[in-house]
Amino acid sequence: MPRESDASIRVGIGYDSHRFAPGRPLILGGVDIPSEFGLHGHSDADAICHAITDAILGAVGAGDIGEMFPDTEPANKDRDSIGMLEAAVRRVSSAGYSVNQVDVSVIAESPRIGPHRDKIRSRLASALGIDSASVSVKGKTNEGMGWIGRKEGLACIAVATLKWNR
Ligand SMILES: [Zn+2]
Repeated sequence: MPRESDASIRVGIGYDSHRFAPGRPLILGGVDIPSEFGLHGHSDADAICHAITDAILGAVGAGDIGEMFPDTEPANKDRDSIGMLEAAVRRVSSAGYSVNQVDVSVIAESPRIGPHRDKIRSRLASALGIDSASVSVKGKTNEGMGWIGRKEGLACIAVATLKWNR
């Protein structure tokens, strides 16, 4: 991992996508969202948490969520993704960094993110150890195009900035 001399602010990007599946819960940013369809995945398939976890790890070159929590490990099945996010925060914190700010876009035809935005922001903020004013969550459709447009699943893109705090 980088040292202080490298930079005082680091930036990381994360991407994640999951397929919609019936009979699964829809959990985004640690919030249970009422929906006809949930998301398929080995863990709880929380694409917001997965994208942010990758952004945080990426900011300091600490690998990715798949290396930290391999899906070949039975212990990771249906794992709480807020817990994975918190583990990533602890990892970068032990290297001397803290999360400064996070911005997320959720690309999905449904559900609408707006009604759940504030709850998601505050859930993420507590996991990240920052104020919810420093967590941005935005919803966007794909204008009916491609696999997202056909409602086969959804995607998330996250950017995180980390600051050196030693
Ligand atoms: Zn994922």
